[in-house]
Amino acid sequence: MEILQFSILILFTVVSFSCLQLSFHECCLNPFLQEHNSSLAEHVIRLANEPETVKWMKTIRRKIHENPELAFEEFSTSSLIRHELDRMGVKYRWPVARTGVVGTIGSGSPPFVALRADMDALPIQEMREWEHKSQVNGKMHACAHDAHTAMLLGAARILQQLRNHLQGTVNLIFQPAEENGEGAKEMIREGVLDNVGAILGLHMFNSYPSGTVASRPGPFLAGCGSFKAIIRGKGAHAAFPQESIDPILAASTSIISLQNIVSRETDPLDSQVVSVTIMQGGNSFNIIPESATIVGTFRAISRKNFYALRKRIEEVIKGQSAVHRCSAEIEFDGDGHPNLPPTINDERVYEHVQKISSLVVGEGNTELAPPFMASEDFAVYLEKVAGSYLLLGTRNEEAGSFYPPHNPYHTIDEDVLPIGAAIHATFAFSYIVNFTKCCHYY
Ligand SMILES: [Zn+2]
Ligand SMILES: [Zn+2]
Repeated sequence: MEILQFSILILFTVVSFSCLQLSFHECCLNPFLQEHNSSLAEHVIRLANEPETVKWMKTIRRKIHENPELAFEEFSTSSLIRHELDRMGVKYRWPVARTGVVGTIGSGSPPFVALRADMDALPIQEMREWEHKSQVNGKMHACAHDAHTAMLLGAARILQQLRNHLQGTVNLIFQPAEENGEGAKEMIREGVLDNVGAILGLHMFNSYPSGTVASRPGPFLAGCGSFKAIIRGKGAHAAFPQESIDPILAASTSIISLQNIVSRETDPLDSQVVSVTIMQGGNSFNIIPESATIVGTFRAISRKNFYALRKRIEEVIKGQSAVHRCSAEIEFDGDGHPNLPPTINDERVYEHVQKISSLVVGEGNTELAPPFMASEDFAVYLEKVAGSYLLLGTRNEEAGSFYPPHNPYHTIDEDVLPIGAAIHATFAFSYIVNFTKCCHYY
């Protein structure tokens, strides 16, 4: 494949990167790699680019694209994944988080490393006319989760071929419901991260050209929080305000005071947002109601600021309600308005992934991405274990893949599929080799 740049580097390169400051020892070598006298990345890239494997990944992506399923409804997608894992002889657990699948490859013993793909589509009508257009009205894979699933199956196929040389275990996490922010939480509750030492997540992204990858150490994507506050007072005739405890007034001053958190309490160079988006209360011009409701969202790039904002929102609403003799109940993680923490890449795992990506796409094709205000439920995994999230460039004018995610014309460059499969597989294999044979990864 043209956009994959072949790198002739012995395993020493991969291992020495990951061992950080520690020197190379013979014990770093995996017998498989000694036998093959070639680098891990080289071998994996070759497997990822076998014409039959590329064709198979494209077919899977197209099948999933034709039949998009929304959050927690991914029954056909899940069935397709299980069918392919069965054909490969990969064991799996199912159902996990309703429609999720967790495959395992390797010895079944530690160390454990996890690779994650999301499976759900969006409630969008696909506008692009092509052979494999969505067959379901009003639903579409407009966030490339069809491609993410195909790439993780590609990695499974590669790792299954190397399974006898894996002295550890790879968990392949096929996760439902990324778009509503619930999938990762449910998967974690069902134990998919138990004993896992590191995790990798990839997302196709149209802002970067095909054949490039982009990421950054530390804070990467914003945390997305939401709140719903019910402010309770005492209703009365509006002509006798002295008989009331007015929740409308308490809600109004709460909204004004919430705007002071970002403008007066935070560093202007450190992006944060608090917005009130719904205000409800009362149903008549001459009745002071019993209660008023305000709903809003907050965003921050760092975990510290995200949780600080959440704490201050609660304090401000409760404080302002108390000033006006009302009480307030605040819900932060209710139905339809999930909270996602910021996506924070572990610096060491990021470095390791960065080196692997350079081997796969070539030195000079990896970019330091700026932080941005979108959110990802992969962040929930990163709160539990060290890991890294990576953007995989898929912008190619010829393929028409220049529309952003969540756009009805969105599509991807399918020639990028082997890159994602190779990065996934190389990361998992090298993590296990380093952990077991050389030095401690962390
Ligand atoms: Zn999305
Ligand atoms: Zn997405």
